[in-house]
Amino acid sequence: MMACVIGHQLRFYNSLGRRMEDFVPSADVTGLYSCGPTVYSFQHLGNMRPYVFADTLRRALRWKGIAVRHVVNITDVGHAVADSDTGEDKLEVAAAKERRSVEEIAAFYTKDYLDAMAALNVQPADVYPRASEYVPQMIELAARLEEKGYTYRLPSGLYFDTSKSPGYGTLGLLDLEGEREGARVEHVEGRKNKSDFALWRAEEPGRRRVMRWDSPWGWGAPGWHLECSVMSMELLGEHFDTHTGGIDHRELHHVNEIAQSEAYLGDGKPWVRYWLHNEFLQLNERKMAKSAGGAPRLADLVAAGYHPMAYRLFLLGGHYRSQLDFTTHAMDAAQATLRRLVTRVEPLRPLPVAQTLEQARALLPAADALLPDADALLPAAGALLPEDRRAAGYLDQIDEAIAADLATPRILAALQESLRDPEISVQGQRVIVAAADALLGLRLADLDAREVDQRRSAADLDAAERETIERLVAERTQARKEKDWGRADQIRAELDGLGVQVTDTSTGPVWELR
Ligand SMILES: [Zn+2]
Repeated sequence: MMACVIGHQLRFYNSLGRRMEDFVPSADVTGLYSCGPTVYSFQHLGNMRPYVFADTLRRALRWKGIAVRHVVNITDVGHAVADSDTGEDKLEVAAAKERRSVEEIAAFYTKDYLDAMAALNVQPADVYPRASEYVPQMIELAARLEEKGYTYRLPSGLYFDTSKSPGYGTLGLLDLEGEREGARVEHVEGRKNKSDFALWRAEEPGRRRVMRWDSPWGWGAPGWHLECSVMSMELLGEHFDTHTGGIDHRELHHVNEIAQSEAYLGDGKPWVRYWLHNEFLQLNERKMAKSAGGAPRLADLVAAGYHPMAYRLFLLGGHYRSQLDFTTHAMDAAQATLRRLVTRVEPLRPLPVAQTLEQARALLPAADALLPDADALLPAAGALLPEDRRAAGYLDQIDEAIAADLATPRILAALQESLRDPEISVQGQRVIVAAADALLGLRLADLDAREVDQRRSAADLDAAERETIERLVAERTQARKEKDWGRADQIRAELDGLGVQVTDTSTGPVWELR
């Protein structure tokens, strides 16, 4: 299907094949499925990244006028401890520990997840299907796979025979001859191939599960991978365009989703065409995976005086396929950048609506003449005001950046540059801010600078922070004394990044937190 391309062609890095590809939707409404949270504990900061990334993808599609149906599943059954095929369910373990019912646990942590999404300005999915509500369909799919000869039974359940799946492991570039049985794959008695996985996890004799269903393979619960195949096909159709998730899903969960779905469909076509994966967030050089435990949450950041939008800005300041190091210093810098952006944007409000490139261009007469290629530049552009041409240039930079595999750091850079540009028109600036924020989602249209600044007062600083600030202020005074203005400015910028404002008075410099 040919797409009518406006501006730069949207291109994504497809994990399937590990290469950049043009994105061409297969339907009027493109289907997007994102693996959602397992709701047995609080989501930590690392868990937020896949959803801010998927939200950015949605904004990019909207920017190009592509309608989306987005499904995010809620895993409230079937996810065993340590992502294994046997053993207890994460939800049941949490319920026993917290002395609550599994339903209470699921409801409580689902709400926590959705609250965090709202705070991060992540657009709600069209549907949040719950795994526990799709078990009959999961049994049906597993039964169909058994009929087709893709499975075998063991006392511990029904297993998918990966040797029967010709393309098994393509997505993960798995080396099946080698020893790819990593730490995440436990030993299962009787399993034919190390990569085989459970479609149904049978109840162990004498150990009655809390969440249990009757099936052709006895009482038990579905395997973890089954839910995503079932719910995505049910809600988006048998084939759909895009599937996203954290990079930890690329070698196991998504590989297994593909194997069982393609075996089920049996039409020889790839089940899903585009697979996009975000990298991890690193905390003290330790990847923040779900089971890491004790990792900071969004609520912790807010309690420390950071705005949720500062965290979103921190995430978007890195490319989704790069690992990001989470540090206090990086968060301070993000908060300071957000504060500066909001302060600078406030006088430009109200902002126009520029959610799509088409809308943005319509607000900027120069854009049509300047985009998408230089050939179209003249003669119309000759008649334009130079300041309009500058705005059109920034708009092109933003469009080029989002089209190039969602290069959010470049959008941020273009936005900041446009706000510092003395030669751009005010209307041009308004359009650029509105367009950039339609993609970044930083709430630049309505965020109050005072809301951003619920920062700690100087009295809340700990000794080390106070020491750092005092040292920098002293160094700056010294640099000024030596007339080393470059160094003095550099230190001032550093202090600015920490949210510290220095004023020079007749009795010497005075600093305060802004
Ligand atoms: Zn999934």
